[in-house]
Amino acid sequence: MADKIWLSSPTMHGEEMEFIKEAFDTNWVAPLGANVDGFEKDVEDYIGGGIHAVALSSGTDAIHLALRIIGVKPGDIVFCPSLTFAASANPITYEGGIPVFIDSERDSWNMDPAALEKAFEKYPNPKAVISVDLYGTPAKVSEIAWACASRGVPMVDDAAEAMGSSFKKVPVCCFGMFGILSFNGNKIITTSGGGMLISYNPDLINKARFLATQAREKARHYEHKEIGFNYRMSNIVAGIGRGQMKHLDEHINRKWEIRRRYEEAFADIPEISLNPYLPETRPNAWLTCITIDPESPVKPLQVIEALEKENIETRPIWKPMHLQPVYRENDFIQVVDGVSVAEDIYNRGLCLPSDIKNTEEDMDRIINIVRGLFR
Ligand SMILES: *Cc1c(COP(=O)(O)O)cnc(C)c1O
Repeated sequence: MADKIWLSSPTMHGEEMEFIKEAFDTNWVAPLGANVDGFEKDVEDYIGGGIHAVALSSGTDAIHLALRIIGVKPGDIVFCPSLTFAASANPITYEGGIPVFIDSERDSWNMDPAALEKAFEKYPNPKAVISVDLYGTPAKVSEIAWACASRGVPMVDDAAEAMGSSFKKVPVCCFGMFGILSFNGNKIITTSGGGMLISYNPDLINKARFLATQAREKARHYEHKEIGFNYRMSNIVAGIGRGQMKHLDEHINRKWEIRRRYEEAFADIPEISLNPYLPETRPNAWLTCITIDPESPVKPLQVIEALEKENIETRPIWKPMHLQPVYRENDFIQVVDGVSVAEDIYNRGLCLPSDIKNTEEDMDRIINIVRGLFR
């Protein structure tokens, strides 16, 4: 069997071990320590603009804390794109909120501002709006942020897949009241598992830090006036993050090389389109995805199976939330009723291997198999 080619696996560089070793040598295995503070500072410096960050055990936790601080209560409506990973929507449900799913546009595959307007007409008082930058591609964030701000509705940018992506040079995670990042196993950088909640407002981040450490009040005895969580990142895990931060830009450059390689390889196959992005944005190119023309006899499943047979990992496009059994009762807002862009992208698309450790030969193997199907 040929060597396995991964969709997007962790890429370690060695510095990660040095930070972990430092934690062992000083016995700061626990609790929070220098690596957590250092990792938060590294991310704050990278994003810039005076942003504040709190390191958490996952991106999902970060979304949960954002919604908790915004004050989502049972029965509250929260808008969220349908075309996303379930982790964008599930924290709404943790708080008893009701996700209302919004369709995608075709320019970036993210939340369609026109569908969002329709949602505001139908539900004028949502408690929050979650915007997602799918596959690292910035959404129409300035339109979405304005639609929210002009109504006084807080926006949370789920940039779990989009660390390092920007809209008109501004990092996408900075457009809302909160931004969230994930360092899960296959994201652009990884700590094995982890996330961050970011905001320009230090009070909100301090509040998140407090809630993430069991909402323990400042008192010698253990005093609690609120329900808290155990959501902080460990000092060992943060050491991996500090090492990875030295290589984030390098990872993004490699992801772009992969995307450009696919672009060139499929340039003469008109049935194949790469996942699009807005000209005023710079995606981090986390995953290169394709959609196949509806007229083409080749279907995404054939591509997935052909690559799988050769030990090459792919992934379907995220199955839209409004099609998930667990969310089948929830509303789904489209610009034109009955025309679902999210569903169309899901039906016609797939994610190609975008692992930055892929060699030229790996890329040739993948490309030859895909091209072979379209001959
Ligand atoms: C990965 C991901 C999350 C959740 O991050 P975790 O760190 O895995 O909890 C949330 N939203 C999107 C879009 C993601 O891809």
